[in-house]
Amino acid sequence: MYAEVIVDISASAVDKIFDYEIGELEISEGYRVLVPFGNFVTEGYVIRIKESTNYDVKKVKKILSVKDDFAVITPEMINLMHNMCALYHLKYIDVLRLFLPSEMRTGKVKSLSRVVLEFVGDKAKIKENLRKNAKNQLNLLEFLQESQKYYKSDLNEKFTPGAVNKFVEDGFLVASAEKIYRSPSFNQVDDSRHKHTDLQERAINSILSANKTHLLFGVTGSGKTEVYMSVIEQIILQGKTAIMLVPEISLTPQVLANFKARFGEQVAILHSGLSVGERFDEWKRIRLGEAKIVVGARSAIFAPLQNLGIIIIDEEHEQSYNSESNPRYFTKDVAEFRKEFNNCPLVLGSATPSLESFNKAERGEYNLIEMPVRVNGKAMPNIEIIDMLGEMRAGNTGVFSRRLLFELENCFKNKKQAMLFINRRGFSSFMRCIECGYVAKCTDCDVSLVYHKNDDKLKCHYCGKRYRALTKCPQCGSEKIRQGAVGTQRIVEELNKYFPDVKVLRMDNDTTQVKNAHQKILTEFAQSAPAVLVGTQMIAKGHDFKDVTVVGIVDADQSLYQTDYKSTERTFELITQMAGRAGRNESEGRVILQTYAPRHYAYKFIANYNYKGFYSKEINLREVAKFPPFTTILRLLFSGDNEELVRQMVKGCHNKIYDLAQKYGDDFVYYDAMKSPVGRIKNKFRYQILIRLKNENSREIIDKIYDVCDDCLNAKVSMFVEINPSSLA
Ligand code: ADP
Ligand code: ZN
Ligand code: ZN
Repeated sequence: MYAEVIVDISASAVDKIFDYEIGELEISEGYRVLVPFGNFVTEGYVIRIKESTNYDVKKVKKILSVKDDFAVITPEMINLMHNMCALYHLKYIDVLRLFLPSEMRTGKVKSLSRVVLEFVGDKAKIKENLRKNAKNQLNLLEFLQESQKYYKSDLNEKFTPGAVNKFVEDGFLVASAEKIYRSPSFNQVDDSRHKHTDLQERAINSILSANKTHLLFGVTGSGKTEVYMSVIEQIILQGKTAIMLVPEISLTPQVLANFKARFGEQVAILHSGLSVGERFDEWKRIRLGEAKIVVGARSAIFAPLQNLGIIIIDEEHEQSYNSESNPRYFTKDVAEFRKEFNNCPLVLGSATPSLESFNKAERGEYNLIEMPVRVNGKAMPNIEIIDMLGEMRAGNTGVFSRRLLFELENCFKNKKQAMLFINRRGFSSFMRCIECGYVAKCTDCDVSLVYHKNDDKLKCHYCGKRYRALTKCPQCGSEKIRQGAVGTQRIVEELNKYFPDVKVLRMDNDTTQVKNAHQKILTEFAQSAPAVLVGTQMIAKGHDFKDVTVVGIVDADQSLYQTDYKSTERTFELITQMAGRAGRNESEGRVILQTYAPRHYAYKFIANYNYKGFYSKEINLREVAKFPPFTTILRLLFSGDNEELVRQMVKGCHNKIYDLAQKYGDDFVYYDAMKSPVGRIKNKFRYQILIRLKNENSREIIDKIYDVCDDCLNAKVSMFVEINPSSLA
């Protein structure tokens, strides 16, 4: 018998399937094995067992040994690997590595167990044979009860290891091992069950009645989470399992608490905030079938659950579902593959669905389920648009409009809470010399640096490198250095000035580096009033604070002017989500939106909560401009240390794509090779080929493009593929 093995080495040259002889070993598909490879030994994964090999049998080597006592990769995941490799042009091993906790591969984390002792002796008899001065043993004997079990560590502590070990040697205490799992912490809350509204009831039935993709379009506060939980409850009753994805870890404390309260030990949690031990143990509970529901961030889509009965992706429009480093993939694509394999429903939920998803629903590819009203019957909070140019004309050059200051004052006077949203971390965006226009840039990456006030440093947000802050322009020597647009730190400072007695909390990438920091900030905010939470988009989602009456969007335009075709959509999403944080309880909420472009169509639709109106306008623009979902964008990103080599390779690929474009004529809307907008990151030069294809033949053409690029590639340049990338930087 032979095994097809993928070796655990990430290099294009060995991105192949190798045959090995199985011999006497007991191996099935999905096992991790040790194999000889070249002059050394490496780990590998068995993806298929077969009777014969096409290679010279004398040259086929033997598998050395088996690593674990179970298949670490399930048959479904092997199938998924093939699908993902074909779609995104990935290496087998890079995909397999996504499926396993990294701590398993490095072998740095071990399973834990503790020793359980059962007392089996006859108390009276044992006592007769004990020496009268053996105090510890006598006390231990006194304590033990017939056929009771105890943790050895507890007994050791109470009665000394000497006494305990003596009893074990004499056979009065019989040892066995009990597995223990390190489990992530979560907030304890009560399971709040509600009588479902009609809309919720209808949504639940609709999802359970069809194994297809459903788009649950429900306004913020319409009770989507309750729908998810009820659906999962039904699926579990049918003996199946469930995956529930939430976007970022900022959102998880509340959701996790609710899931734990309803489903207890059946829930496993996977997100980047876990310790390595916790992640390893949660993964193992899932793989061994002990956990049936997985709640987690993006990577939880790879949870090795078997008999999957439903997949739910909450806040489906979220960017963070798309992996933006190698291996790049779209979580929704992966979910579609798993849905097909398991023949189960897939639910995409959002108050602001991505245009692509809503378009699919409109065309009947997805089943559209709508929940247009809040469970509490409250209207959505009023959104007021403030023209910041008008403020300037009136002599107010501060970061807060007079209206926002007035509302904040009111809010704090009534001991309520406010949230201020600013889409940028750090103190300000960049440092610029106002004499000559010099902007501080990273030496390794072609991007401007961001000023962080706490440590008075400039930081590169691409590579993390730190620099001294500018006091003097290195170009012209002027000392007139200005900071660009405002960031979270600056807002905090301003608030402290205006409202010295009010608690100000800040949540962004910088304040949430340490474990459980999100949870701490959110809990503190929930327990403080008056208080204000300042943050980046981290605070825009999911949170359900009862006393937030004012939401301020400090600079709404920031996401509007990023130069890609999705900027307007992203602005609509972010602001609508942020507005949804206000007025969730009795007290009415208001939203103050500060902008320099008050007449932009996005704001008109935002202020009226008119998603469908916005959708119609935007989808029209996309159609006219030939952007997704009407076309497919393929971005081939080439990077390497040697700029000349990278350029040559791009040129070679571009020429071959030119030939393809001649052949496929009309199917190519556009293609071009260029330097990437961020031309260098960590000293690697970046070039790209952008291609836009009509949808009809895109799959076929993309496969052809992968083939011609493979012919050009060499080991010194890497190529990454993205389909409909959200950022072209
Ligand atoms: P969404 O996810 O759609 O924004 P949530 O699921 O967070 O909405 O629900 C908002 C609030 O309404 C939560 O506090 C939730 O406990 C509550 N809720 C959900 N369903 C009901 C119901 N049927 N009756 C009363 N309250 C409900
Ligand atoms: Zn200067
Ligand atoms: Zn850098």
